[in-house]
This record gives sequence, C-alpha cells and structure tokens, in this order.
Amino acid sequence: MKNDCVFCAIAAGEIPSFKVYEDDETLAYLDINPFSRGHTLVIPKRHTVGLLDTDDDALARLIARVKAVAARVKDRLGCDGFNILQNNGEAAGQTVHHIHFHIVPRWTGDALAFTNQPGDMEKLKALAEQIRA
Ligand code: AMP
Ligand code: ZN
Repeated sequence: MKNDCVFCAIAAGEIPSFKVYEDDETLAYLDINPFSRGHTLVIPKRHTVGLLDTDDDALARLIARVKAVAARVKDRLGCDGFNILQNNGEAAGQTVHHIHFHIVPRWTGDALAFTNQPGDMEKLKALAEQIRA
C-alpha cells in the first residue's frame, strides 16, 4: 500500500466506495464523478502506477477481471456498449496514480462527452447494489 494513494486507501477499506466486485487481488467500484450511468473503475489492490510498471502476469489477470466486470455491468444495466479507458501520465489525463481501467457504459445515440459529472451518492449506492447483485 502506498501512503497518500486514494485507491490504495479504498482497497484497504479506509475510504468508502460503491463496490461492485471484489476478489483477492482486484476491486471494482463506481466512479464518483461518472462519465455515464454505471461508470466503473477496476483496480488491482497492489499499487502500481500504470501500464508500464505493472508486470505482464498481473496485467493479464487484471484485464480478465475488467472483462468479467464489464459483462456484469452490461447485463445489469442493459447498456448497448461500453468504452474501456486507461490513462497513463498526467498528459494523458491520469489524475489518480494507481493503475485503473474505466468501464464507461454507452447507450445508442447517447452522444457522450467524456467529462466527469459529480455523482448523486444515493443513486450511486442503488446502482452499485444493482450491479453487484
Ligand atoms: P483518471 O483520470 O484516469 O486518473 O481517473 C481517475 C478517476 O477516479 C476519475 O474519473 C475520478 O472521478 C475517480 N475518482 C477519484 N476519487 C475517487 C473516489 N474516492 N471514488 C471513486 N472514484 C474516484
Ligand atoms: Zn495505490
């Protein structure tokens, strides 16, 4: 765990999250400033910064979890598609320096602009329960 890393603190249960999936080495929870309804982040519990410092085996396991969580989000929310995003470095828009994959649900014709919107905490809570179930 890295001190001052918000996602390590979430993985350690020190900061609350709207959890949708967890196993020994992976955690998935709703983004609190979602691009779209059901915007989910998938992280390894072990801290690495991004794609380049994460070893290949850990990455392979992580992307398999991203796939499984995306399938669950699509099934539970009935979205028509989804984007997978993974930012590396501030120049690329990375604001949290603990590797994470974004799953951004998409609906046909939604004309989504990829901008964060403050989430409604009650709605996020209900949504996390719907995806986790
Ligand atoms: P990135 O720009 O790829 O680093 O994305 C970081 C994402 O983490 C942003 O979309 C934030 O809204 C999200 N985020 C930051 N803090 C939290 C938190 N405590 N719980 C859930 N999502 C968060
Ligand atoms: Zn971390």
